[in-house]
Amino acid sequence: MPAVYIGIGANLGAAQDSVQQAIARLCALPQTQMQASSGLYSSAPIDAGGDDYINAVVCLETALGAEDLLRHLQAIELAFGRERPYRNAPRTLDLDLLLYGDEQIATTALTVPHPRMTERAFVLLPLLQIAPDIHIPGRGAAQAWMASVAAQRIQIISIN
Ligand code: ADP
Ligand code: MG
Repeated sequence: MPAVYIGIGANLGAAQDSVQQAIARLCALPQTQMQASSGLYSSAPIDAGGDDYINAVVCLETALGAEDLLRHLQAIELAFGRERPYRNAPRTLDLDLLLYGDEQIATTALTVPHPRMTERAFVLLPLLQIAPDIHIPGRGAAQAWMASVAAQRIQIISIN
């Protein structure tokens, strides 16, 4: 089964609770086992206003196909009351499929690796916490992208 990495973010309501409950929901997905879960991080919003985000990254092993998994992620977002009033709007829960094994996917619904993951400290830092040597298909070692996001404000708030 492929190792799959999911990025989690929230900045509306009880964001820390939302992220923790989302991790529990991901553990409970069918045909899926949780392999690792990062600590919780707090990061400044990028290209948007609103409160700081709470972020985490988890690693799953799953027999779900990528598009099927994306549908599950969107159902969990909706269960947390996610609305999409405008681009980069504050959100109760955002679940991004970052990596699906070593696959590169480009369909209308899904781009994997996630196209913006190498530009975001709130993805790279928790990802590297649980997978320090990970390579991003087509983009090389995740660690090599850290220098380019060094100016982004982020801190760890709970070590897992
Ligand atoms: P973002 O997370 O970039 O702020 P959204 O969560 O609103 O934006 O996602 C918008 C769309 O992105 C979704 O409808 C989904 O089909 C698409 N999408 C493409 N690739 C991915 C991916 N790897 N993970 C999650 N959503 C994706
Ligand atoms: Mg998203």
